[in-house]
Amino acid sequence: MNALPLETEFPRHDAISQQINWPLAAASLEGVLADHSVRRSTRLADLIEQTATLLDAARRNRQPQLANALDRLIHAIEREQVTASEDFSRLIRLIRHIERIIQNSAVLDANGNNPLALILTETEPSETLRDALNRAGYAVQIINPLTADQQQIKALCEEAELLVFITHRSESAQEIMAPVARFEALIKSRTTIMIAANDSFASRAAAVKTGVTHFLTEPLDVSRLNTLLQSARMTDEENRPLRVLMVDDMATAGVYWGKHFQRHNIFYRFETSPEKAYRSAIEMEPDIILLDLYMPDIDGIDLARIFREHPRLQDVPILFMSTEENDRRRMEAKIQGGDDFLNKTIPIDDLLKMVRYRALRYRQSSAEKRSDSLTGLLNHNAIKHLIESELDRANRQNQPLTVAMIDIDHFKKVNDNYGHQIGDNVIRKLSNLLNTRLRRYDGVGRYGGEEFLVALPNTDETTAAHLINRLRIQFANTPIQIEDKTKVQCTFSAGIASFPNSLDLTSLIEAADNNLYLAKDHGRNRVICDQFSRTQPDTGGR
Ligand code: GH3
Ligand code: MG
Ligand code: MG
Repeated sequence: MNALPLETEFPRHDAISQQINWPLAAASLEGVLADHSVRRSTRLADLIEQTATLLDAARRNRQPQLANALDRLIHAIEREQVTASEDFSRLIRLIRHIERIIQNSAVLDANGNNPLALILTETEPSETLRDALNRAGYAVQIINPLTADQQQIKALCEEAELLVFITHRSESAQEIMAPVARFEALIKSRTTIMIAANDSFASRAAAVKTGVTHFLTEPLDVSRLNTLLQSARMTDEENRPLRVLMVDDMATAGVYWGKHFQRHNIFYRFETSPEKAYRSAIEMEPDIILLDLYMPDIDGIDLARIFREHPRLQDVPILFMSTEENDRRRMEAKIQGGDDFLNKTIPIDDLLKMVRYRALRYRQSSAEKRSDSLTGLLNHNAIKHLIESELDRANRQNQPLTVAMIDIDHFKKVNDNYGHQIGDNVIRKLSNLLNTRLRRYDGVGRYGGEEFLVALPNTDETTAAHLINRLRIQFANTPIQIEDKTKVQCTFSAGIASFPNSLDLTSLIEAADNNLYLAKDHGRNRVICDQFSRTQPDTGGR
């Protein structure tokens, strides 16, 4: 019997999704072009064939952006077929562009499917929970474990990456858990969250007994939930292909190591020219760089110095590869802390272990460095960095990008009247609102004290202004309760600006800031956007 409220919020395409390792496929496109042992016309024909297969898969997996780029590549190859030049720079640019899309998008998530979060509950889960899950990138399914078919529960639990149990009566905790308690091993191998109506000992005990990872109570603390979800996804992030850049003047070295890396599902780029390597490094933001110690134009250590000058490459681990103990000893004096030498004769398994370990540690520490401790949002530098990359992307893809600078009105008075703690709660509340109401691909950062910066890729100014205005109304209309019956009611003002009206990061932020000041000037609690230099009417507000 299947009387269950089953719901899918994201389309899933398991049946049709072909197993494609996207990073590898993209790397292979470039490999086809680079193989000079094969005739030009054959290479182009191979390239068209591979690209067409990928285009097909991208369309089936509903990746319009990727499909679009692959389509452009096919046209460019066709044009190339009727010319006689050996200059493939345009094709290479397009392929790199495709690599970027793959790196930046959810294509990496199980071939375009969002991982599944399964909610086990007797009742309808809250909007807040669904929003947070969706925003963290999960497809959500809901099942009632008390009425659903056992086999189906088991199948769904197996498929899910995250399990959420909701219990509304403390005595129901045991009941909710009972049908799944038998699959203990399964529960222990996944991130599991129990949400209880109240903090009863019985529910905690039921949770602990069955190996539940996290315990939350109603009303949901959204920022704690987001942090949990973020760390759950972080584990997932660890499973994403690592990005390795290798620089060596010997092309054969690249082919040799490349084969091994690709076999181990590592996204790998190889460069022989130091200058190209530098550009690649900035563009691909590798998790680790392997540098040949001796190259004709520059030695590895000096090249590393150049890399380190760039803010995006300041902390990336660099391993130097050398052939001789002698070279190594001579170079040791020049080496900086943290970097390390490797002998090129190192067994491949050892190299892979070393690369993995260092790259993962770097990923974790940079994720921590990016987040703001009070809210878990991106911090000042991280949101600017994100906007910079989004600008690059918007530029290349000819798409709009809108940013909003949001500042809480008269926030000083909140602190003065209710104290700093309550002030912090207001900041958290707005951060939760932004975090749960925006899309997964939108960037949300805490720019300063009570100031937030939001990036909305592929969104024009008018659409963004309406969106932010709806958030403004919602924020103004939901006061936070503090002790006894006191409520704090706050509003915010926002300034909006967009690419291509403003072309670079500085002017984009400046334009948004100017509009924010206009909004403050015109009486606060409003949104002003650049395009029309007009205010959003205070509709539906207080
Ligand atoms: P306006 O409407 O013009 O924005 O007025 P305002 O009072 O919000 O602006 P102002 O910039 O004068 O004051 C911001 C205040 O925010 C001052 C500072 O003490 C407070 N603040 C900054 N960071 C934090 C924080 O992390 N927590 C708390 N509770 N307060 C903070
Ligand atoms: Mg303020
Ligand atoms: Mg301020």
